[in-house]
Amino acid sequence: MVIEDGRIAWVGASRSAPSADARFDAGGRAVIPGFVDSHSHLVFAGDRTAEFNARMSGASYTAGGIRTTVAATRAASDAELDANVARYLGEALRQGTTVLECKSGYGLTVEDEARALRIAGRHTDETTYLGAHVVPPDYADDPAAYVELVTGPMLDACVPYARWVDVFCERGAFDGDQARAILTAGAKRGLTPRVHANQLTEGPGVQLAVELGAASADHCTHLSDADVAALASAADTTVATLLPGAEFSTRARYPDARRLLDAGATVALSTDCNPGSSFTSSVPFCIAIAVREMGMTPDEALWSATAGGAAALRRTDVGRVTVGARADLALLDAPSHVHLAYRPGVPLVAAVWRGGELVAGAA
Ligand SMILES: [Zn+2]
Repeated sequence: MVIEDGRIAWVGASRSAPSADARFDAGGRAVIPGFVDSHSHLVFAGDRTAEFNARMSGASYTAGGIRTTVAATRAASDAELDANVARYLGEALRQGTTVLECKSGYGLTVEDEARALRIAGRHTDETTYLGAHVVPPDYADDPAAYVELVTGPMLDACVPYARWVDVFCERGAFDGDQARAILTAGAKRGLTPRVHANQLTEGPGVQLAVELGAASADHCTHLSDADVAALASAADTTVATLLPGAEFSTRARYPDARRLLDAGATVALSTDCNPGSSFTSSVPFCIAIAVREMGMTPDEALWSATAGGAAALRRTDVGRVTVGARADLALLDAPSHVHLAYRPGVPLVAAVWRGGELVAGAA
């Protein structure tokens, strides 16, 4: 591979490589595209260890635990939130992630949502307005008024800092009509929809995502045959983003990647990194689960965690090793990407480049 001005300029067999100013021999180790993690929630404060511990001791997961993080996030300073984002982004980078989407959703006031997106925007271009994460306690008696806030003043305050609009469409969060209103309002202001869909139960989220031309339907754990067919028919538009860290951390049934792939859907694999339901920043961990538990081959899992994530963010400049792509690369301490699943839990990422610059590890 030849890298020039931060982009991949040539790919081919070593013996026919053109000359270059500097040369690096990977010594038989595999180089893969940097992971594109298209779903995370990093602007938060506090911790939900007690809730995880209770769940692993028999309690079940509901959408309500989000409110715990909302209270801690509102109470945190800008500097604390910024440091938290930087910490988990660094953690992800060292594990090979070179593009990471980040959502708001733990502020749930006009000021706190705008603040979350402003802070996220210092670290990534892929920022998502998720004022509709859950109805906050202050609006528990009047969810309709909260939807008005999310589609009105809160949207106004967040539009300058966001590329995407998202909604948690789920029993206990927002129903199909509310989700449609929120996504449509965001789209009118230039934000492209993505949807937390069908995580805990079958519901309208996936169909809504496809109908509105959302970039992705995320989770896709509980799908009807019609949902799978809809995602397959929208394979060029709406990516099915699977987030197995959530099922791992909530001890739930994994999404069936095989069923989606066999139907022809485009599948991405991401971490959903958040303190409540999936506190991992590790794409390799998600790849290992996807191969072992979700019916993906190692090739499919790697594609989904790189080019698939890029598709979910409607990008073609990252997630692939092709001429013209940004030189975002991870060097594995292994002869092939199969080892990501074959050697689960082992820190195989030895070095990471972004735009041709070494940004983590050592080559
Ligand atoms: Zn999420």
